Amino acid sequence: MNSTMMDVQLLITGLLERAGHLYADEEIVSQRPDKSLHRMRYRDFYRRSKALAGALTAAGLAPGSRVATLMWNHYAHLEAYFGVPAGGFVVHTLNLRLHPSDLAYIATHAGDEVLIVDDVLLPLYQAIAGHVEFKQVLVVPTTGAPVAEPYTDYEAFLETCPQDYAFPELRETEAAAMCYTSGTTGRPKGVLYSHRSTVLHAFALGLTDTIGITRNDVVVPVVPQFHAMAWGLPYACAMVGAKQVLPGPHLDPESLLDLFDRERVTYTAGVPTIWLGIAQALESQPARWTLTPGLRMAVGGAAAPPSLIRALDRHDCTVIHAWGMTETSPLGTVSVPGPEHASFDDDGRVRVRAKQGRPAPFVEIRVVNDQGIAPWDGKTMGELEVRGPWVAAGYYGDGEGSEAFTEDGWFRTGDVATIDSSGFVEITDRTKDLIKSGGEWISSLALENALMGHETVAEAAVVGIPHPSWQERPLAVVVPHEGREADPAALRSFLETQFAKWWLPDEIIIVDTIPRTSTGKFQKRELKEAYRDRYGGLDKG
Ligand code: ADP
Repeated sequence: MNSTMMDVQLLITGLLERAGHLYADEEIVSQRPDKSLHRMRYRDFYRRSKALAGALTAAGLAPGSRVATLMWNHYAHLEAYFGVPAGGFVVHTLNLRLHPSDLAYIATHAGDEVLIVDDVLLPLYQAIAGHVEFKQVLVVPTTGAPVAEPYTDYEAFLETCPQDYAFPELRETEAAAMCYTSGTTGRPKGVLYSHRSTVLHAFALGLTDTIGITRNDVVVPVVPQFHAMAWGLPYACAMVGAKQVLPGPHLDPESLLDLFDRERVTYTAGVPTIWLGIAQALESQPARWTLTPGLRMAVGGAAAPPSLIRALDRHDCTVIHAWGMTETSPLGTVSVPGPEHASFDDDGRVRVRAKQGRPAPFVEIRVVNDQGIAPWDGKTMGELEVRGPWVAAGYYGDGEGSEAFTEDGWFRTGDVATIDSSGFVEITDRTKDLIKSGGEWISSLALENALMGHETVAEAAVVGIPHPSWQERPLAVVVPHEGREADPAALRSFLETQFAKWWLPDEIIIVDTIPRTSTGKFQKRELKEAYRDRYGGLDKG
């Protein structure tokens, strides 16, 4: 007999049951394409998620089958997040910003059998329809327009759930959800989350010293539900009973601020480019919105520049800077200052908050370079490696990715970092974004953060351009603040006070916009391509 504790499985089903019973009256608000708001309670969410699980089972889907989603953030996507895994299937979120050929590759590679798609995204499905075979395509009528043949109406499908349907008993190590990395290097790679990893990750998000979601929060995941499971927020919210507000397709700063104001939002999360836009909107129309004092904004996916943290502070918003990856569920580290930083002045505290932070419990970190494992001295750089119960152990069906995993069980992140004596990680750059000039490394991220600290600069990206004598030289592109002029010479002098001369970008080019990736980050690959021959390329002789 086992004389310790009960062997209760950590299942998404448990999160769903809890939400449906304990928080039955709590609200889930979704913004429709026409901006009207769809409202339902956790009790409806429970009933409908269960109906989805039962209907998929009744349709003959085998356990472990993949159910793909092509949706914005809203109630039906949430139902798929819970109903599909609780039914014993795997929910696979497709990134609607990918090129149709990538989508077709990913859906085929994953073996997706059913697709749930928003009516407004049907043209995207039609672009891949000739290249992928789904057994069934369920269309969510987000606009209210009737769903026409040959598609199945999602609402009608839910009604096919048998009356006596009960959730299956599952093992916590079974796959629950799936997401592909964006594939900035090579083909996209599939990450399979288990029930156990998802539930443990939800617990971690509830810790006050990490993300700290509580029952009293009203949460807007601006991060798309197709990007690393909306950073796990839907699961954490269901666990603690937080109200969820899902923005649908309206992710521009003004629409988001309207939603934050109207729904009294207390917590939101997204990539820095979203918050750069929000900060600008707040600067230009400070009186237009009434936000919850201290509104917490989790910023991750790319570095939060100190200037952004300060700008949002001025509007009584609190940036919580976190680092993570699709492969890490994504929570890896969060920068929450501790008593060791109590004596720091404002600048010092912002510097701490601009670091990527301390690892969440059970996430282990180390920095490795040619000399071995680096000391935690805040100076020695190397590649950041992580391991933990919600870190991928491998990529789905792909030997190609295996070099990302070390023989002793660590995941190589591809990020260059230091770790300080308090265990705070500071990312210097992605390996592929580091600029190699004359045999020395230049951090594109440090230059970007500095440029965005200048009063005339709204956005900045720095890339390494091939150069015949230096191998690469940095080039900066800069978007000025609305109504301001940015002067390259002045920016150069500004940088001169902070960096060695050889770090300074050879050019600072003023542009209207910086291209974005499918997850909303600055698209450096495109910039590198656009300026590839600017300095004459590499000297082939
Ligand atoms: P994508 O490849 O689409 O960007 P991910 O969202 O998984 O996919 O990206 C993870 C990467 O994003 C990390 O390896 C790191 O380079 C970067 N990143 C995430 N959070 C931060 C952060 N707070 N600071 C700096 N870089 C970050």
